[in-house]
Amino acid sequence: MNRPLPDSPYTERASPGPETPVLAQSVKADVCVVGGGFTGLSAALKLSEDGVDTVLLEAMEPGYGASGRNGGQIIPGFKHDPEGMIQRFGAEKGEAMAAFAGNAPNLVFDLIDRYKIDCDAVRSGWLQAGHGPSVLPLLESRVRQWRERGAPIELLGPADTERLSGSRFYSGALLDRRGGTLNPLAYARGLAAAALSQGARLHGNSPVTAIERKGPAWLVTTPKGTVEADRVLIVTNAYTGDFWPGLARSIVPVYSYQVATEPLTPNLQATILPNRIGLSDTKRMLNYCRQDAGGRLLVGGRGYPQESTDPADFEAIGEALARIFPAVADMRLTYCWSGKVALTLDHWPHIGEVAPGISVAFGFNGRGVAMATATGRCMAEHLQGGLLESLPLPVRPFRPVPGHGLLTRFLSAAIGIKRLQDWWEVRQS
Ligand SMILES: Cc1cc2nc3c(=O)[nH]c(=O)nc-3n(C[C@H](O)[C@H](O)[C@H](O)COP(=O)(O)OP(=O)(O)OC[C@H]3O[C@@H](n4cnc5c(N)ncnc54)[C@H](O)[C@@H]3O)c2cc1C
Repeated sequence: MNRPLPDSPYTERASPGPETPVLAQSVKADVCVVGGGFTGLSAALKLSEDGVDTVLLEAMEPGYGASGRNGGQIIPGFKHDPEGMIQRFGAEKGEAMAAFAGNAPNLVFDLIDRYKIDCDAVRSGWLQAGHGPSVLPLLESRVRQWRERGAPIELLGPADTERLSGSRFYSGALLDRRGGTLNPLAYARGLAAAALSQGARLHGNSPVTAIERKGPAWLVTTPKGTVEADRVLIVTNAYTGDFWPGLARSIVPVYSYQVATEPLTPNLQATILPNRIGLSDTKRMLNYCRQDAGGRLLVGGRGYPQESTDPADFEAIGEALARIFPAVADMRLTYCWSGKVALTLDHWPHIGEVAPGISVAFGFNGRGVAMATATGRCMAEHLQGGLLESLPLPVRPFRPVPGHGLLTRFLSAAIGIKRLQDWWEVRQS
Protein backbone atom coordinates (compact mmCIF):
# COMPACT_ATOMS: atom_id res chain seq x y z
CA MET A 1 0.00 0.00 0.00
CA ASN A 2 1.51 3.32 -1.04
CA ARG A 3 1.68 6.15 1.51
CA PRO A 4 0.32 9.59 0.64
CA LEU A 5 2.71 12.20 -0.75
CA PRO A 6 4.83 13.37 2.23
CA ASP A 7 4.60 16.94 3.54
CA SER A 8 7.35 19.17 2.16
CA PRO A 9 7.84 22.81 1.18
CA TYR A 10 6.38 21.69 -2.14
CA THR A 11 3.05 20.53 -0.71
CA GLU A 12 3.04 23.73 1.39
CA ARG A 13 3.42 26.08 -1.61
CA ALA A 14 1.86 24.24 -4.57
CA SER A 15 -1.77 24.80 -5.52
CA PRO A 16 -3.90 21.62 -5.43
CA GLY A 17 -3.62 19.49 -8.54
CA PRO A 18 -6.46 19.14 -11.06
CA GLU A 19 -9.17 16.49 -10.65
CA THR A 20 -7.97 13.13 -11.96
CA PRO A 21 -10.82 10.68 -11.28
CA VAL A 22 -10.28 6.95 -10.82
CA LEU A 23 -10.65 4.98 -14.05
CA ALA A 24 -13.94 3.18 -13.41
CA GLN A 25 -14.88 1.78 -16.85
CA SER A 26 -13.48 0.20 -20.00
CA VAL A 27 -12.23 2.80 -22.48
CA LYS A 28 -10.27 2.96 -25.74
CA ALA A 29 -7.45 5.33 -26.67
CA ASP A 30 -4.68 5.66 -29.25
CA VAL A 31 -2.03 5.77 -26.52
CA CYS A 32 -2.06 4.74 -22.87
CA VAL A 33 0.65 6.34 -20.71
CA VAL A 34 1.45 4.49 -17.46
CA GLY A 35 2.90 6.79 -14.78
CA GLY A 36 2.17 10.45 -13.99
CA GLY A 37 5.62 11.91 -13.34
CA PHE A 38 7.36 14.48 -15.56
CA THR A 39 7.99 11.90 -18.32
CA GLY A 40 4.40 10.68 -18.51
CA LEU A 41 2.82 14.11 -18.09
CA SER A 42 5.09 15.69 -20.68
CA ALA A 43 4.40 12.84 -23.12
CA ALA A 44 0.62 13.07 -22.54
CA LEU A 45 0.76 16.84 -23.05
CA LYS A 46 2.62 16.59 -26.35
CA LEU A 47 0.42 13.74 -27.60
CA SER A 48 -2.75 15.67 -26.83
CA GLU A 49 -1.31 18.87 -28.35
CA ASP A 50 -0.83 16.80 -31.51
CA GLY A 51 -4.43 15.55 -31.40
CA VAL A 52 -3.61 11.99 -30.31
CA ASP A 53 -6.30 10.44 -28.10
CA THR A 54 -4.39 9.76 -24.87
CA VAL A 55 -5.23 8.23 -21.48
CA LEU A 56 -2.72 8.55 -18.61
CA LEU A 57 -2.96 6.18 -15.65
CA GLU A 58 -1.28 7.11 -12.37
CA ALA A 59 -1.18 4.83 -9.30
CA MET A 60 -1.58 7.73 -6.85
CA GLU A 61 -1.67 11.36 -8.07
CA PRO A 62 0.31 13.27 -10.73
CA GLY A 63 3.72 14.12 -9.24
CA TYR A 64 3.47 11.40 -6.58
CA GLY A 65 6.86 9.81 -7.43
CA ALA A 66 10.27 11.44 -7.76
CA SER A 67 8.73 14.30 -9.74
CA GLY A 68 6.87 15.78 -6.76
CA ARG A 69 9.68 15.29 -4.23
CA ASN A 70 12.98 16.12 -5.93
CA GLY A 71 15.52 18.89 -5.39
CA GLY A 72 13.82 21.13 -7.95
CA GLN A 73 17.10 21.78 -9.79
CA ILE A 74 16.74 22.19 -13.54
CA ILE A 75 19.97 20.59 -14.73
CA PRO A 76 21.06 20.50 -18.38
CA GLY A 77 22.48 17.24 -19.65
CA PHE A 78 22.66 13.54 -19.00
CA LYS A 79 25.15 12.29 -16.39
CA HIS A 80 27.62 11.80 -19.26
CA ASP A 81 29.41 14.72 -20.92
CA PRO A 82 29.15 15.42 -24.68
CA GLU A 83 32.38 13.55 -25.45
CA GLY A 84 31.03 10.56 -23.52
CA MET A 85 27.88 10.67 -25.68
CA ILE A 86 30.01 10.71 -28.84
CA GLN A 87 32.25 7.92 -27.59
CA ARG A 88 29.24 5.70 -26.78
CA PHE A 89 26.88 6.54 -29.67
CA GLY A 90 29.10 7.94 -32.47
CA ALA A 91 29.64 11.52 -33.64
CA GLU A 92 26.29 12.18 -35.32
CA LYS A 93 24.01 10.73 -32.67
CA GLY A 94 26.30 11.88 -29.81
CA GLU A 95 26.13 15.52 -31.02
CA ALA A 96 22.34 15.25 -31.45
CA MET A 97 22.08 13.93 -27.89
CA ALA A 98 24.27 16.74 -26.54
CA ALA A 99 22.10 19.35 -28.31
CA PHE A 100 18.92 17.70 -27.02
CA ALA A 101 20.20 17.45 -23.44
CA GLY A 102 21.64 20.97 -23.45
CA ASN A 103 18.30 22.36 -24.66
CA ALA A 104 16.17 20.47 -22.14
CA PRO A 105 15.99 23.40 -19.64
CA ASN A 106 14.72 25.68 -22.47
CA LEU A 107 11.82 23.29 -22.96
CA VAL A 108 10.95 23.39 -19.24
CA PHE A 109 10.91 27.20 -19.17
CA ASP A 110 8.95 27.30 -22.47
CA LEU A 111 6.25 24.98 -21.12
CA ILE A 112 6.02 26.99 -17.89
CA ASP A 113 5.57 30.18 -19.95
CA ARG A 114 3.20 28.68 -22.49
CA TYR A 115 0.87 27.05 -19.95
CA LYS A 116 1.35 29.72 -17.25
CA ILE A 117 2.48 27.15 -14.69
CA ASP A 118 2.84 28.79 -11.30
CA CYS A 119 5.80 26.88 -9.83
CA ASP A 120 8.31 29.43 -8.44
CA ALA A 121 10.57 28.86 -11.47
CA VAL A 122 13.72 30.99 -11.79
CA ARG A 123 16.49 30.75 -14.33
CA SER A 124 19.21 31.48 -11.82
CA GLY A 125 21.75 28.96 -13.14
CA TRP A 126 23.15 25.73 -11.74
CA LEU A 127 26.37 25.27 -9.79
CA GLN A 128 28.23 22.00 -9.83
CA ALA A 129 30.64 22.45 -6.95
CA GLY A 130 33.92 20.52 -6.57
CA HIS A 131 34.39 18.76 -3.25
CA GLY A 132 38.19 18.75 -3.55
CA PRO A 133 41.03 19.86 -5.88
CA SER A 134 41.21 16.39 -7.48
CA VAL A 135 37.85 16.95 -9.24
CA LEU A 136 38.70 20.35 -10.74
CA PRO A 137 40.17 18.85 -13.97
CA LEU A 138 36.84 17.05 -14.46
CA LEU A 139 34.92 20.33 -14.11
CA GLU A 140 37.40 22.07 -16.45
CA SER A 141 36.89 19.39 -19.08
CA ARG A 142 33.08 19.58 -18.69
CA VAL A 143 33.14 23.37 -19.13
CA ARG A 144 35.38 23.08 -22.20
CA GLN A 145 33.15 20.48 -23.85
CA TRP A 146 29.96 22.50 -23.36
CA ARG A 147 31.60 25.82 -24.30
CA GLU A 148 32.77 24.26 -27.58
CA ARG A 149 29.06 23.71 -28.23
CA GLY A 150 28.13 27.29 -27.39
CA ALA A 151 26.72 26.73 -23.90
CA PRO A 152 26.79 29.66 -21.40
CA ILE A 153 28.91 27.88 -18.83
CA GLU A 154 32.05 28.92 -16.95
CA LEU A 155 34.51 27.71 -14.35
CA LEU A 156 34.60 29.57 -11.03
CA GLY A 157 37.48 29.79 -8.58
CA PRO A 158 37.04 29.33 -4.82
CA ALA A 159 36.19 33.01 -4.11
CA ASP A 160 33.40 33.20 -6.73
CA THR A 161 32.12 29.80 -5.66
CA GLU A 162 31.88 31.05 -2.07
CA ARG A 163 30.16 34.26 -3.21
CA LEU A 164 27.48 32.38 -5.15
CA SER A 165 27.01 29.49 -2.73
CA GLY A 166 27.59 31.12 0.64
CA SER A 167 29.82 28.13 1.51
CA ARG A 168 33.58 27.77 2.00
CA PHE A 169 33.31 24.01 1.57
CA TYR A 170 34.10 23.91 -2.15
CA SER A 171 37.35 24.22 -4.13
CA GLY A 172 35.64 25.67 -7.22
CA ALA A 173 32.55 25.12 -9.34
CA LEU A 174 31.10 25.28 -12.78
CA LEU A 175 28.30 27.77 -13.29
CA ASP A 176 25.85 26.67 -15.97
CA ARG A 177 23.48 29.52 -16.84
CA ARG A 178 21.09 27.20 -18.69
CA GLY A 179 19.84 25.81 -15.36
CA GLY A 180 17.51 27.07 -12.66
CA THR A 181 15.15 25.91 -9.92
CA LEU A 182 11.42 25.37 -9.39
CA ASN A 183 8.85 23.79 -7.10
CA PRO A 184 8.68 20.34 -8.75
CA LEU A 185 5.28 19.34 -7.38
CA ALA A 186 3.72 22.58 -8.62
CA TYR A 187 5.39 22.00 -11.99
CA ALA A 188 4.06 18.40 -12.20
CA ARG A 189 0.56 19.55 -11.28
CA GLY A 190 0.83 22.34 -13.86
CA LEU A 191 1.84 19.83 -16.56
CA ALA A 192 -1.16 17.68 -15.56
CA ALA A 193 -3.50 20.67 -15.91
CA ALA A 194 -1.90 21.54 -19.27
CA ALA A 195 -2.36 17.97 -20.57
CA LEU A 196 -6.02 18.01 -19.47
CA SER A 197 -6.52 21.37 -21.18
CA GLN A 198 -5.31 19.81 -24.45
CA GLY A 199 -7.75 16.90 -24.18
CA ALA A 200 -5.75 14.13 -22.47
CA ARG A 201 -7.70 11.97 -20.01
CA LEU A 202 -5.85 11.60 -16.69
CA HIS A 203 -6.82 9.06 -14.02
CA GLY A 204 -5.29 9.07 -10.54
CA ASN A 205 -5.52 6.24 -7.96
CA SER A 206 -5.55 3.87 -10.94
CA PRO A 207 -2.53 1.56 -10.61
CA VAL A 208 -1.85 -0.62 -13.63
CA THR A 209 -1.83 -4.28 -12.61
CA ALA A 210 -1.41 -5.99 -15.99
CA ILE A 211 -0.76 -5.30 -19.67
CA GLU A 212 -1.82 -8.02 -22.12
CA ARG A 213 -2.32 -8.45 -25.83
CA LYS A 214 -5.86 -7.96 -27.14
CA GLY A 215 -5.77 -8.67 -30.88
CA PRO A 216 -3.59 -6.00 -32.50
CA ALA A 217 -4.00 -3.70 -29.45
CA TRP A 218 -2.93 -3.82 -25.78
CA LEU A 219 -5.29 -4.13 -22.80
CA VAL A 220 -4.09 -2.18 -19.78
CA THR A 221 -5.82 -3.28 -16.57
CA THR A 222 -6.39 -1.34 -13.33
CA PRO A 223 -8.51 -2.45 -10.32
CA LYS A 224 -11.70 -0.72 -11.58
CA GLY A 225 -11.28 -0.30 -15.32
CA THR A 226 -9.30 -1.05 -18.47
CA VAL A 227 -7.81 0.87 -21.39
CA GLU A 228 -7.51 -0.68 -24.83
CA ALA A 229 -4.78 1.15 -26.75
CA ASP A 230 -2.62 0.67 -29.84
CA ARG A 231 0.47 1.96 -28.07
CA VAL A 232 1.56 1.99 -24.44
CA LEU A 233 4.27 4.11 -22.82
CA ILE A 234 5.57 2.86 -19.46
CA VAL A 235 7.20 5.65 -17.45
CA THR A 236 7.00 4.40 -13.86
CA ASN A 237 10.70 4.97 -13.11
CA ALA A 238 11.95 3.86 -9.66
CA TYR A 239 8.32 3.22 -8.62
CA THR A 240 7.96 0.40 -11.19
CA GLY A 241 6.21 -2.67 -9.79
CA ASP A 242 5.82 -6.14 -11.31
CA PHE A 243 3.10 -5.54 -13.91
CA TRP A 244 5.66 -6.18 -16.68
CA PRO A 245 8.17 -9.00 -16.15
CA GLY A 246 11.77 -7.95 -15.53
CA LEU A 247 11.21 -4.22 -15.89
CA ALA A 248 11.70 -3.32 -12.23
CA ARG A 249 14.97 -5.26 -12.25
CA SER A 250 16.40 -3.12 -15.07
CA ILE A 251 17.11 -0.23 -12.66
CA VAL A 252 18.44 0.10 -9.13
CA PRO A 253 16.04 2.15 -6.98
CA VAL A 254 17.76 4.18 -4.22
CA TYR A 255 16.28 6.66 -1.76
CA SER A 256 17.30 10.27 -1.69
CA TYR A 257 16.51 12.16 1.53
CA GLN A 258 15.86 15.88 1.83
CA VAL A 259 15.38 18.41 4.61
CA ALA A 260 14.11 22.00 4.63
CA THR A 261 15.00 24.49 7.34
CA GLU A 262 12.64 27.10 8.68
CA PRO A 263 12.81 30.30 6.54
CA LEU A 264 16.29 31.87 6.72
CA THR A 265 16.75 35.37 8.12
CA PRO A 266 16.93 38.10 5.41
CA ASN A 267 20.69 38.31 5.97
CA LEU A 268 21.20 34.57 5.42
CA GLN A 269 18.82 34.63 2.43
CA ALA A 270 21.12 37.21 0.85
CA THR A 271 24.28 35.16 1.43
CA ILE A 272 23.34 31.45 1.13
CA LEU A 273 22.61 30.45 -2.47
CA PRO A 274 21.04 33.85 -3.17
CA ASN A 275 18.73 34.33 -6.17
CA ARG A 276 17.61 30.71 -5.65
CA ILE A 277 20.51 29.23 -7.62
CA GLY A 278 20.73 25.41 -7.40
CA LEU A 279 23.89 23.57 -6.31
CA SER A 280 24.90 19.92 -6.58
CA ASP A 281 28.37 18.78 -5.61
CA THR A 282 30.72 16.32 -7.30
CA LYS A 283 30.86 13.71 -4.54
CA ARG A 284 29.98 10.11 -5.40
CA MET A 285 27.34 10.35 -2.65
CA LEU A 286 26.43 13.85 -3.66
CA ASN A 287 24.65 16.56 -1.72
CA TYR A 288 22.39 19.09 -3.40
CA CYS A 289 20.97 22.28 -1.98
CA ARG A 290 19.13 25.47 -2.79
CA GLN A 291 16.99 28.17 -1.25
CA ASP A 292 13.31 27.97 -2.15
CA ALA A 293 10.87 30.79 -2.85
CA GLY A 294 9.80 30.73 0.82
CA GLY A 295 13.40 31.42 1.93
CA ARG A 296 13.95 27.92 3.31
CA LEU A 297 17.24 26.13 2.73
CA LEU A 298 16.72 22.68 1.17
CA VAL A 299 19.52 20.11 1.41
CA GLY A 300 19.43 16.54 0.12
CA GLY A 301 21.58 13.44 -0.23
CA ARG A 302 21.55 9.66 -0.17
CA GLY A 303 19.48 8.14 2.68
CA TYR A 304 18.49 4.74 4.09
CA PRO A 305 17.02 2.14 1.71
CA GLN A 306 13.44 2.94 2.74
CA GLU A 307 10.94 5.77 2.67
CA SER A 308 10.99 7.95 5.79
CA THR A 309 9.83 11.24 7.27
CA ASP A 310 11.22 10.47 10.75
CA PRO A 311 13.71 13.26 11.66
CA ALA A 312 15.92 10.66 13.40
CA ASP A 313 16.67 9.09 10.00
CA PHE A 314 17.88 12.42 8.59
CA GLU A 315 20.88 12.90 10.86
CA ALA A 316 23.40 12.44 8.04
CA ILE A 317 21.68 15.10 5.92
CA GLY A 318 21.60 17.46 8.94
CA GLU A 319 25.35 16.89 9.37
CA ALA A 320 25.96 17.64 5.69
CA LEU A 321 23.95 20.86 6.04
CA ALA A 322 26.02 21.90 9.08
CA ARG A 323 29.28 21.08 7.27
CA ILE A 324 28.39 23.04 4.13
CA PHE A 325 26.59 25.94 5.85
CA PRO A 326 27.81 26.23 9.48
CA ALA A 327 25.73 29.42 9.93
CA VAL A 328 22.50 27.39 9.81
CA ALA A 329 23.75 24.35 11.72
CA ASP A 330 21.40 24.97 14.65
CA MET A 331 18.36 25.92 12.65
CA ARG A 332 15.17 23.89 13.13
CA LEU A 333 14.30 21.52 10.28
CA THR A 334 10.66 22.01 9.34
CA TYR A 335 10.39 19.20 6.81
CA CYS A 336 12.09 15.82 6.25
CA TRP A 337 11.00 13.70 3.29
CA SER A 338 12.34 11.19 0.79
CA GLY A 339 11.83 9.82 -2.70
CA LYS A 340 13.11 7.08 -4.98
CA VAL A 341 15.73 7.76 -7.66
CA ALA A 342 16.15 5.27 -10.54
CA LEU A 343 19.83 4.49 -11.12
CA THR A 344 21.19 2.50 -14.03
CA LEU A 345 24.57 0.77 -13.92
CA ASP A 346 25.92 2.73 -16.91
CA HIS A 347 24.25 6.06 -15.93
CA TRP A 348 22.28 6.21 -19.20
CA PRO A 349 18.46 6.29 -19.00
CA HIS A 350 16.68 3.17 -20.24
CA ILE A 351 14.77 3.89 -23.39
CA GLY A 352 13.40 1.34 -25.81
CA GLU A 353 10.63 -1.14 -26.56
CA VAL A 354 9.84 -4.19 -24.43
CA ALA A 355 7.32 -5.53 -26.98
CA PRO A 356 5.99 -4.19 -30.29
CA GLY A 357 3.90 -1.14 -29.32
CA ILE A 358 5.12 -0.94 -25.71
CA SER A 359 7.79 1.69 -25.11
CA VAL A 360 9.62 2.44 -21.89
CA ALA A 361 11.62 5.48 -20.76
CA PHE A 362 13.10 5.82 -17.31
CA GLY A 363 16.27 5.78 -15.20
CA PHE A 364 17.32 9.42 -15.25
CA ASN A 365 19.90 8.92 -12.49
CA GLY A 366 18.79 11.98 -10.51
CA ARG A 367 18.69 14.24 -13.59
CA GLY A 368 15.01 14.24 -14.43
CA VAL A 369 13.48 17.68 -14.04
CA ALA A 370 14.67 18.80 -17.46
CA MET A 371 15.65 15.44 -18.97
CA ALA A 372 12.42 13.58 -18.13
CA THR A 373 10.34 16.50 -19.45
CA ALA A 374 12.31 16.53 -22.70
CA THR A 375 12.33 12.74 -23.01
CA GLY A 376 8.55 12.56 -22.53
CA ARG A 377 8.09 14.94 -25.45
CA CYS A 378 10.50 12.98 -27.58
CA MET A 379 8.73 9.70 -26.77
CA ALA A 380 5.43 11.31 -27.80
CA GLU A 381 6.90 11.89 -31.25
CA HIS A 382 8.08 8.29 -31.42
CA LEU A 383 4.59 7.05 -30.42
CA GLN A 384 3.22 8.88 -33.44
CA GLY A 385 5.41 6.88 -35.78
CA GLY A 386 8.92 8.26 -35.37
CA LEU A 387 11.66 5.63 -35.36
CA LEU A 388 13.11 5.00 -31.91
CA GLU A 389 16.61 4.81 -33.35
CA SER A 390 16.32 8.29 -34.85
CA LEU A 391 15.59 9.94 -31.46
CA PRO A 392 18.44 11.85 -29.76
CA LEU A 393 18.16 9.38 -26.88
CA PRO A 394 20.22 6.40 -25.67
CA VAL A 395 17.98 3.65 -27.10
CA ARG A 396 19.15 0.16 -26.09
CA PRO A 397 17.68 -3.27 -25.43
CA PHE A 398 16.36 -3.80 -21.88
CA ARG A 399 18.27 -6.15 -19.65
CA PRO A 400 17.66 -6.93 -16.00
CA VAL A 401 20.62 -5.76 -13.85
CA PRO A 402 22.69 -8.92 -13.18
CA GLY A 403 22.42 -9.98 -9.51
CA HIS A 404 19.75 -7.31 -8.92
CA GLY A 405 18.59 -8.79 -5.60
CA LEU A 406 22.12 -9.05 -4.20
CA LEU A 407 23.04 -5.61 -5.51
CA THR A 408 20.13 -3.87 -3.79
CA ARG A 409 20.85 -5.86 -0.59
CA PHE A 410 24.53 -4.86 -0.51
CA LEU A 411 23.95 -1.29 -1.63
CA SER A 412 24.53 0.09 1.88
CA ALA A 413 28.04 -1.45 1.94
CA ALA A 414 28.81 0.03 -1.49
CA ILE A 415 27.51 3.43 -0.32
CA GLY A 416 29.79 3.21 2.75
CA ILE A 417 32.84 2.69 0.51
CA LYS A 418 31.89 5.60 -1.74
CA ARG A 419 31.39 7.86 1.29
CA LEU A 420 34.90 6.94 2.47
CA GLN A 421 36.36 7.86 -0.95
CA ASP A 422 34.51 11.21 -0.85
CA TRP A 423 35.73 11.89 2.70
CA TRP A 424 39.35 11.21 1.65
CA GLU A 425 39.13 13.58 -1.35
CA VAL A 426 37.62 16.36 0.81
CA ARG A 427 40.52 15.88 3.27
CA GLN A 428 43.02 16.52 0.45
CA SER A 429 41.78 20.11 0.03
C1 LIG B 1 14.73 13.21 -3.61
C2 LIG B 1 15.03 13.37 -5.08
C3 LIG B 1 15.76 14.49 -5.50
C4 LIG B 1 16.00 14.70 -6.86
N1 LIG B 1 16.54 15.87 -7.27
C5 LIG B 1 16.59 16.19 -8.59
C6 LIG B 1 16.96 17.49 -9.02
O1 LIG B 1 17.19 18.40 -8.21
N2 LIG B 1 17.05 17.71 -10.36
C7 LIG B 1 16.76 16.74 -11.29
O2 LIG B 1 16.87 17.00 -12.49
N3 LIG B 1 16.33 15.52 -10.90
C8 LIG B 1 16.22 15.22 -9.59
N4 LIG B 1 15.75 14.00 -9.19
C9 LIG B 1 15.32 13.04 -10.22
C10 LIG B 1 13.96 13.39 -10.81
O3 LIG B 1 13.05 13.70 -9.78
C11 LIG B 1 13.45 12.20 -11.62
O4 LIG B 1 14.43 11.84 -12.57
C12 LIG B 1 12.16 12.51 -12.37
O5 LIG B 1 11.22 13.05 -11.50
C13 LIG B 1 11.66 11.24 -13.02
O6 LIG B 1 10.37 11.46 -13.52
P1 LIG B 1 9.54 10.22 -14.04
O7 LIG B 1 8.31 10.73 -14.65
O8 LIG B 1 10.42 9.38 -14.91
O9 LIG B 1 9.26 9.33 -12.74
P2 LIG B 1 8.44 9.60 -11.40
O10 LIG B 1 8.26 11.03 -11.12
O11 LIG B 1 9.06 8.75 -10.34
O12 LIG B 1 7.00 9.04 -11.76
C14 LIG B 1 6.67 7.70 -11.86
C15 LIG B 1 5.18 7.59 -11.56
O13 LIG B 1 4.72 6.29 -11.90
C16 LIG B 1 3.67 5.98 -11.01
N5 LIG B 1 3.45 4.53 -11.03
C17 LIG B 1 4.25 3.56 -10.54
N6 LIG B 1 3.68 2.35 -10.76
C18 LIG B 1 2.51 2.58 -11.41
C19 LIG B 1 1.49 1.72 -11.90
N7 LIG B 1 1.56 0.39 -11.76
N8 LIG B 1 0.43 2.28 -12.50
C20 LIG B 1 0.35 3.63 -12.66
N9 LIG B 1 1.30 4.48 -12.21
C21 LIG B 1 2.36 3.96 -11.59
C22 LIG B 1 4.18 6.49 -9.67
O14 LIG B 1 3.13 6.65 -8.73
C23 LIG B 1 4.84 7.80 -10.07
O15 LIG B 1 3.98 8.90 -9.95
C24 LIG B 1 15.56 13.73 -7.83
C25 LIG B 1 14.86 12.59 -7.38
C26 LIG B 1 14.58 12.41 -6.03
C27 LIG B 1 13.81 11.21 -5.59
